[in-house]
Amino acid sequence: MISRNLASIHARMAAAAVAAGRDPASVTLIAVSKMHPREAVLAALAAGQSVFGENKVQEAEEKFPIPGAKLHLIGALQTNKAAHAVRLADAIDSLDREKLNDAIAKAAQAAGRLPELLVQVNVGDEPQKAGVALADADAFIRASRARFGEALRGLMCIPPEGLDPLPYFKRLAAMADVHGLAVRSMGMSGDFEIAIAAGATHVRVGTAIFGARSILRET
Ligand SMILES: *Cc1c(COP(=O)(O)O)cnc(C)c1O
Repeated sequence: MISRNLASIHARMAAAAVAAGRDPASVTLIAVSKMHPREAVLAALAAGQSVFGENKVQEAEEKFPIPGAKLHLIGALQTNKAAHAVRLADAIDSLDREKLNDAIAKAAQAAGRLPELLVQVNVGDEPQKAGVALADADAFIRASRARFGEALRGLMCIPPEGLDPLPYFKRLAAMADVHGLAVRSMGMSGDFEIAIAAGATHVRVGTAIFGARSILRET
């Protein structure tokens, strides 16, 4: 099932890229395995998928590292989890405040490794949502670039639910352009084709690969 789902997602991603006049190879699939067991990750890996996303550090540590698998941490990150995140992840996609940057920098010093980094932008300025506020985004992106240099690869967003995501995706892409950042992580199971049309370089797809997440594991 997982391998069939992956093939179908890849076909849809390629069609969306071609329709947008883009090279299908310019879009990376992050398979979001949160709330699915390590066996599901291994099955996807066996089917050729090598990039995975988890949103909780502790849960990620129960499954990763896995040889041959690259791990993105895509969830809101508490500063007290930064050291674990820096040791485990290949990429941390949710920088959104100076205190977190401080903790990541300190942890990177101690660990002697620095993952790739993305700034998460709260494109809908939703009070309950993680990500740097739009009004603060430019300054925060500049400060993050100054601090982390080339490790800062780009931007990530989750647009407001229930609204047309296209203007939000376009806004994130424009912001990445302004800052000369290559990576735009945007689009999930329900809207990744729209994100590709707007310039996504990474789409984060969970449900459409692994199936529904059980509410029982949601604690
Ligand atoms: C869970 C999650 C996804 C995947 O969502 P699906 O709708 O299951 O594809 C993508 N991005 C983030 C940040 C997530 O937490």
